[in-house]
Amino acid sequence: MSAPGTASVNIVGAGLAGALLALLFARRGLAVTLYERRPDPRQATPERGRSINLALAARGMRALEQAGVMERVRPLLIPMRGRMVHERSGATTLQPYGQRPHEVIWSVGRADLNRVLIEEAALHARVSVRFSQQCRGVDVRGDSLAMRDLSSGREYQVALAPTIATDGAGSAVRGGLAAAGLTRVREEWLDHDYKELTILPASAGALERHALHIWPRGGFMLIALPNTDGSFTATLFLARNGSQSFAALDQPRAVLEFFQREFADALPLVPDLPKQFASHPQGQLATVHAAPWHTDGQVLLLGDAAHAIVPFHGQGMNAAFEDCSVLGATLDRVPDWPARFAEFERLRRPNTAAIAQMALENYVEMRDAVLDSGFLRRKAIAMELERRFPDRFIPRYSMVMFHPEIPYGEALRRGALQAQLLAELDPGENGTADAVLAEKLISERLPPLG
Ligand SMILES: Cc1cc2nc3c(=O)[nH]c(=O)nc-3n(C[C@H](O)[C@H](O)[C@H](O)COP(=O)(O)OP(=O)(O)OC[C@H]3O[C@@H](n4cnc5c(N)ncnc54)[C@H](O)[C@@H]3O)c2cc1C
Repeated sequence: MSAPGTASVNIVGAGLAGALLALLFARRGLAVTLYERRPDPRQATPERGRSINLALAARGMRALEQAGVMERVRPLLIPMRGRMVHERSGATTLQPYGQRPHEVIWSVGRADLNRVLIEEAALHARVSVRFSQQCRGVDVRGDSLAMRDLSSGREYQVALAPTIATDGAGSAVRGGLAAAGLTRVREEWLDHDYKELTILPASAGALERHALHIWPRGGFMLIALPNTDGSFTATLFLARNGSQSFAALDQPRAVLEFFQREFADALPLVPDLPKQFASHPQGQLATVHAAPWHTDGQVLLLGDAAHAIVPFHGQGMNAAFEDCSVLGATLDRVPDWPARFAEFERLRRPNTAAIAQMALENYVEMRDAVLDSGFLRRKAIAMELERRFPDRFIPRYSMVMFHPEIPYGEALRRGALQAQLLAELDPGENGTADAVLAEKLISERLPPLG
C-alpha cells in the first residue's frame, strides 16, 4: 500500500471514472487533486447532451462496492429484468436478460451517480476537488499540465506528478500526448448518431418500469430506460445521412410521420416530440483506439479517455469502473508509478479491446437480431445449456453483464466457441436440439471455467 504523505496525484476529469478513482486512491491514503471543467454539480444543473441514464451491471457494481459507496448508490438504481421488445404492430415481448433472480441490469441517472461519487470523494481530507478548471493540454518534457480557471480566465500550470487522465472520449490530455507523438490515436466514428428524448411520468402510462425497452427496426432503433422519478429517457439511434436518417428528419412533419410509421406506440409517450427533436442535441458515437496509454510514470489515460466504445453493450461506464478497480489493485502490488502504469495497460488492453468489439456487435443484435426466430431459438438453447452445464457454458451476454470474474477477453473468446457450438446444435424450425450431441461438444470444446 502506498504511504500517506506522497505527493498529490492529479486526476483530470471528475466524471464517473475520475470521481471513483479519487475515492479508491483516497481510501489507500493517497492525496488527490481532481480537476473538473464543469461547475460543481452540487450547485449547477446537469449539462445537456450527454446520456442521461445508463445501465449499470456487475462489473461496475463490484468497483463501487470496493470503494464502499454501494449503499449510497443503491437507492438510485432501478432493476431492468430484460428487454421489452416493441414490434411495429404494437406487440410487446419481454426477453429476460438472465435466468436467475439477480441476473438483472440497473438503470441509473448519470448526474445522480456522479454527484454521489464526488460527494464521497470530497469527504476525504486528502482529496481536493477543483471545479471549473479546464485542462488545455499536457507538456510531458516540461512536466506540466496546462490549465485554465474558467471562472476567472486565469491560465496556469500544474506539475504532472503523476496525472491520470479521465477526461472522457474527447480527452484533451490524450490530444496533447498525440500532438507530441507520445501516443497514436484512431477514432472510428459510427455513421449512426443518437438523440435523447424525455418521456415524462404523466405520459409514461403503463410502460413497464423494470425493463429496457427496445423498438428494433433493422437499420435503426429506439430504446428507453426508466428513471427514479417515473420518467423514462428514450434514445433514437439512426443513420446520420441517407433516406432513413437524421438528415431526412429536418422538419417537424417528417419527424411525426417517421414516428407514426416506425414507433406508433411510442408516439403518445412524447407528446411534444417535434419540440424535443428540434431542441435536443444530436450526439455522435465512436470507438477510440489509443496506444500506448501511458508515458513513463507521468501520465496515464483511463476510462473513455483511453478506450471510448459505442454504447450498445451498456459497458463503457462499467469498463471505466473496472479500470479504476484494476489500477487501485495495482497500487497495492506494484511499488512505483512507471511500473504501475505499464502493468495497468498490460492487464486492461486485451480486455477493453474485447468489449469494444462486442459493443459494436451488440448494435446489430439490438436493432435487428432480437426479432429473428433463429436468434431466439439459439438463445433458448444457450439458456438450457447454462442450466445443464453451469460451470462450462454461460451465454456471452451473461458473461459480460453478470460475471465480473470472467474478463472481457475471455467472454469474447469463449463466446466465439459457444456461437459455433450453438450453430451446430440449432435444429432449425420445429426441431429439437440433440442433448447427447450437446454434452459431447461441450465436454470436448469448453473446458470448465476457472
Ligand atoms: C448515449 C450513450 C449511452 C451510454 N450508455 C451506457 C450504459 O448504459 N452503460 C455504460 O456502462 N456506459 C454507457 N455509456 C458510456 C459511458 O457514458 C462512458 O463510458 C462513461 O461516461 C466513461 O466515464 P469517464 O469518466 O471515462 O468519462 P466521462 O463520464 O465522459 O467523464 C469525463 C469528465 O471529464 C471532464 N472533462 C472533459 N474534458 C475536460 C478537460 N479538458 N479538463 C477538465 N475536465 C474535463 C468532463 O466534464 C467529465 O466530467 C453511454 C454513452 C453514451 C454516449
